[in-house]
Amino acid sequence: MVVVVVGAGIAGLAAGRFLADGGHEVVVLEAGEQVGGKLRRASVADVTVDVGAEAMLARRAEGTDLARDLGLPVVHPTKATSKLWVDGALRPLPPTLMGAPMDLDALEASGVLSPDGMARARAEADLGPADPLGDGDTSVGSIIDARFGREVTDRLVEPLLGGVYAGRAREISVKAAVPKLAALHDRGPLTPQLAVLYRPGGQRGSDLPVFAGIDGGMGLLPEALAAGLEVRTGRPVRRIVRTAGRLTVETLDGSEAADAVVLATPAHATAHLLDGAAADLALVDHASVAVITHAFRIEDWPLGHDTSGFLVPPDQRRRIKASTFSFAKWDWVRRAGEARGVLHVRTSIGRAREAHTLDHTDNELVAQSLADLAEATGLRAAPVDTHVQRWPLGLPQYAVSHTARVAAMRRAVSDVPGLAIAGAAYDGVGIPAVIASARRAADEIMSR
Ligand SMILES: Cc1cc2nc3c(=O)[nH]c(=O)nc-3n(C[C@H](O)[C@H](O)[C@H](O)COP(=O)(O)OP(=O)(O)OC[C@H]3O[C@@H](n4cnc5c(N)ncnc54)[C@H](O)[C@@H]3O)c2cc1C
Repeated sequence: MVVVVVGAGIAGLAAGRFLADGGHEVVVLEAGEQVGGKLRRASVADVTVDVGAEAMLARRAEGTDLARDLGLPVVHPTKATSKLWVDGALRPLPPTLMGAPMDLDALEASGVLSPDGMARARAEADLGPADPLGDGDTSVGSIIDARFGREVTDRLVEPLLGGVYAGRAREISVKAAVPKLAALHDRGPLTPQLAVLYRPGGQRGSDLPVFAGIDGGMGLLPEALAAGLEVRTGRPVRRIVRTAGRLTVETLDGSEAADAVVLATPAHATAHLLDGAAADLALVDHASVAVITHAFRIEDWPLGHDTSGFLVPPDQRRRIKASTFSFAKWDWVRRAGEARGVLHVRTSIGRAREAHTLDHTDNELVAQSLADLAEATGLRAAPVDTHVQRWPLGLPQYAVSHTARVAAMRRAVSDVPGLAIAGAAYDGVGIPAVIASARRAADEIMSR
């Protein structure tokens, strides 16, 4: 069977590999000149680092298994911890389930909440059970507002969800983004249940590393996948036409006949290619973000190595939403930087519905990034090198009822024989979830 995969992000390349492993002839068509989509590496002060995704969840096996299968060195972050930048200070990030507090004493000690906010959070255990969601859905923020009070949403849920989705807590679907929280919510007060989860031996208290990366960068994953596939770059697909039991994939300058097609493009592109079959997809909102990576001279860094970065709640009204001290988080980044006398620190800018985020020159984005970094860390020196990576419409927003919308869309797609979809718009934006969607698309095609 000849299968054309549209899009050479991690979804398309993983689907291509699964199909090729199944003995099928695979051609991947990519609009851009580079493979990898949001997994991309670039040189900053002569060190090649990630300028898109830089980590993957390790407690789901799809990402780490695929990397190991390809012979890539899977590594884990150091023990350095992340902070919250609140009221002018970098404060410890207390343990949470995507912002839902798991240890109220640690939350109080962090100083992240006001005394009133803390009292409200502690009152959660005494609230009566909430009306179960059942088959329904609501936003993560509305659950946390009702149970722990608005300050917990503003100061914990917003920055944590912002880190993954660049999204807004009171708009993102709890069923799609934090299904575990939805399940706990329906069982009764959250405080005791979250505390159990956090205890040693509980899901979150286990010693297994939560995250993994690749020595050399997550961008190595698509590069290794592409090396084993026939990938044609600079080939934007315009249309999929079905004639006489086959599919024709039309590009700007030609066409490919296929027995099956995997659309592994972002939601807006997929909506366009499906031409009405899944018009709902066009409604998926996206956040535009930028990642600004700096290299500083080692001697200029004012903090130690025990902080891996910080998140910024939107109510702090800063320009950046997060910073990762890559040299402190990843040993391989530190080693590579040390060889050149530098250390790498990145910041990200942009949240959902801040369309103006990218309406700035690179120099302006760099200045905004450096101003916030200086205030948060006390850094005074200029970087020796900086890289700006823009990700327009980079992160799909999983609005309330997202899972129902995706299920309806999959039904529409399954009406077209030979067609399957994969990517960040459906079952999770994280790399393991995206790889799982690629596996599903490949299995659907091979089972038909
Ligand atoms: C800044 C940033 C940081 C992130 N950090 C992390 C992280 O640390 N950990 C994590 O797990 N996740 C992270 N994510 C999320 C994760 O990287 C993405 O969800 C995932 O990589 C998306 O993969 P994809 O293949 O679905 O889409 P994409 O990577 O968007 O790939 C889609 C590809 O399709 C191509 N394409 C589009 N239209 C056409 C067309 N008409 N014809 C042909 N090709 C087309 C595009 O050029 C692109 O290459 C991050 C995302 C961003 C933006």
